[in-house]
Amino acid sequence: MKVAVFSTRSYDRQFLDLANQAANSPHELEYFETKLNEQTVSLASGFPCICIFVNDIADETTLKSLAEQGTQLIALRCAGYNMIDIQAAAQLGLKVVRVPAYSPYAVAEHAVGLILMLNRKLNKAYNRVRDDNFTLDGLLGFDLHNSTVGVIGTGKIGTIFAQIMQGFGCHLLGYDVYPNEDFKGIEGAKYVDLPELLAQSDIISLHCPLLPSTHHLINQETIEQMKPGVMLINTSRGQLVNTRAVIDGIKSRRIGYVGFDVYEEEEELFFEDYSDGIIKDDTFQLLQSFQNVVITAHQAFFTKNALTAIAETTIANISSWEEGNMLNNEVKIAPTS
Ligand code: NAD
Repeated sequence: MKVAVFSTRSYDRQFLDLANQAANSPHELEYFETKLNEQTVSLASGFPCICIFVNDIADETTLKSLAEQGTQLIALRCAGYNMIDIQAAAQLGLKVVRVPAYSPYAVAEHAVGLILMLNRKLNKAYNRVRDDNFTLDGLLGFDLHNSTVGVIGTGKIGTIFAQIMQGFGCHLLGYDVYPNEDFKGIEGAKYVDLPELLAQSDIISLHCPLLPSTHHLINQETIEQMKPGVMLINTSRGQLVNTRAVIDGIKSRRIGYVGFDVYEEEEELFFEDYSDGIIKDDTFQLLQSFQNVVITAHQAFFTKNALTAIAETTIANISSWEEGNMLNNEVKIAPTS
């Protein structure tokens, strides 16, 4: 089947081509570097299937154009589906499939990487030694052992993250609207309500999806409930966090460390090269100017293992639909809470 694949980089093409070849090349993949949105949707004209990623914009207008142009299937190369209007897709008769799990280890391990980077100031230490400066002033860290780590969202990624932190000897607190037996099974882990998690945790890591109910979960009010000097880690979705409130929290020293792999307005920035240009997002520039902030550009998923799994599931999802089989990974209705 002909598939228009949006937001592709060389690594996407490499892994999708490999997965397609391994399945005896059932699909004709046409790659576009550009994002899908209202302006670029005409590129998908005549393609029964399109394939998109986290920062594409499949809003109602774009979906209408897709349906009019003959698209019937939208294959997401990711787990989250906040970039697509699922209600509109259903009304237009467009099927949507996703990759519900690829490597939860990739994201959980990246969250741990951010914690170690911030706590032991590895970014500064690396640059200092490269500069032939072997002093330790300003690099003082703290032991993770005996620290209290709060995990908001204890699904696949949150639970693996908690298991790793348990290995460091941390005390684990979890908050979730649907408690998970695997999290409960971790030695010493316990569920608490959100205010208790905020008040008790030295490190808070976000692993819940972006939903109307979780939008700006981290805001001025929730930040005020946190321990002074708390470390805030977000590898989930940027809009879980009110960035301006985080900046105020850093300035007041309520927040001591920030490690973000996602950013509220990342669509404008991430996956692009602005090294020769001007970044006009003042909030982002201010956030990254603080010494106790580390930002990576939505790379937590970016391992060989995860890209292989994403590509294989995507090719299998498209084949299932083409062959009229049951769609195990169909996204049906966007939750409202
Ligand atoms: P999952 O569905 O297994 O777990 C999500 C958990 O969040 C569930 O247990 C759910 O009950 C819980 N939850 C839902 N609403 C909540 C709320 N209001 N408060 C607290 N918890 C709530 O998902 P997962 O595979 O663990 O992925 C988690 C998130 O990680 C995804 O939604 C996605 O946004 C993000 N993610 C990021 C990357 C990256 O590269 N940075 C890659 C993959 C996934």
